[in-house]
Amino acid sequence: DDGVFDAAAAGPVSITSSPEETAPAYVGYQAYQARGGYQLAAAVASGARPADDVLKTMTDSGLRGLGGAGFPAGRKWGIVRQQMAPRLMAVNIDEGEPGTFKDRTYLERDPHRFLEGLLIAAAVVGIDACYVYLRDEYHGCRAILERELALLQANPPCALPRIELRRGAGAYICGEESAMIESIEGKRGEPRMRPPYIAQIGLFGRPTLEHNFETLYWVRDIVERGAAWFSDFGRNGRHGLRSFSVSGRVREPGVKLAPAGITLRELVDEFCGGMLPGHDLYAYLPGGASGGILPVSMSDIPLDFDTLQPHGCFIGSAAVIVLSQKDRARDAALNMMHFFEHESCGQCTPCRVGTGKAAQLMAEPNWDHATLEDLNQVMVDASICGLGQAAPNPVRCVQKYFPHEVL
Ligand code: SF4
Repeated sequence: DDGVFDAAAAGPVSITSSPEETAPAYVGYQAYQARGGYQLAAAVASGARPADDVLKTMTDSGLRGLGGAGFPAGRKWGIVRQQMAPRLMAVNIDEGEPGTFKDRTYLERDPHRFLEGLLIAAAVVGIDACYVYLRDEYHGCRAILERELALLQANPPCALPRIELRRGAGAYICGEESAMIESIEGKRGEPRMRPPYIAQIGLFGRPTLEHNFETLYWVRDIVERGAAWFSDFGRNGRHGLRSFSVSGRVREPGVKLAPAGITLRELVDEFCGGMLPGHDLYAYLPGGASGGILPVSMSDIPLDFDTLQPHGCFIGSAAVIVLSQKDRARDAALNMMHFFEHESCGQCTPCRVGTGKAAQLMAEPNWDHATLEDLNQVMVDASICGLGQAAPNPVRCVQKYFPHEVL
């Protein structure tokens, strides 16, 4: 092969790509088409491959939203499709979750696999215009997307919806779907109250299909190879593939395409070459900043949507950060709380004030557990969006699983 990453041939493989890596070669428009690319999108757009059939395949595959929320993709398509036209699409490539770099890794290798997924979704759901919201720090990705989109639009394989590229401005909260929509509309990026859900009243007041980049990235492979191709992957009773962005004290950090339900211990040993020399597994963050912190004694839990909630954690966008005996969970939790304080949009008092107050209390050698729990509860109960609701997760995990660190 030419050494270019080919997801179609990938299966459950590892891609070693650290955030520091220089931009790799990518599959351009011609090369993608030469490998059969866009034939499926053209078939769906022309009706040769019926939309209902594609929708059923998507639903049967069990693909869930890979930006963190995990909503079943096929069901979402079905809901938006039933809404009155014109319908719009908003694609989230803001990728601001600490420790997450999977979207960038795929985008800078195989941009057309994503664009074909976008076209297939647009054809099935009946989308008039797509807004692609890209993290502004991803300069290389922007150049690739602009170039490849122009090539696609100059020589389209089928009728295209209007596709606009929008630049984010560095706010974590704009990764929240309704805040992203506000931002695309040119307003301050503040999450909206729901209902109404954006599937009904979203971008510019129209029904909106919102997807994370990676969710669309897998559409072509799933529709081409069949629902079972995707759902047959999986371990420990879970189904599908997950792209784990692994960082921390492992020998080989990077994006690891692995079966859903793999445990942290298996992920580190089989996909990351084990721990770094001199480091023993102590703790891990299974889902970036918001997903909580678990101790080594809980490294045999299947990593997937729904499996971590009973333990006060969640997988989110599958950003796994591995800590060793040289780290402290309380330091990681404090770092996260500073992050939430900085990134709070300020709309709700419990989140705006509570994150700052919690960070102050967490910096003390001994924690005032009662006051911290008061703050935790009011943030969970009275925050509009997931940032404020999940901000207490790392605090509560330290209290529950690492009490020896915070007497
Ligand atoms: Fe903004 Fe925080 Fe309220 Fe979310 S919870 S809307 S980030 S203030």
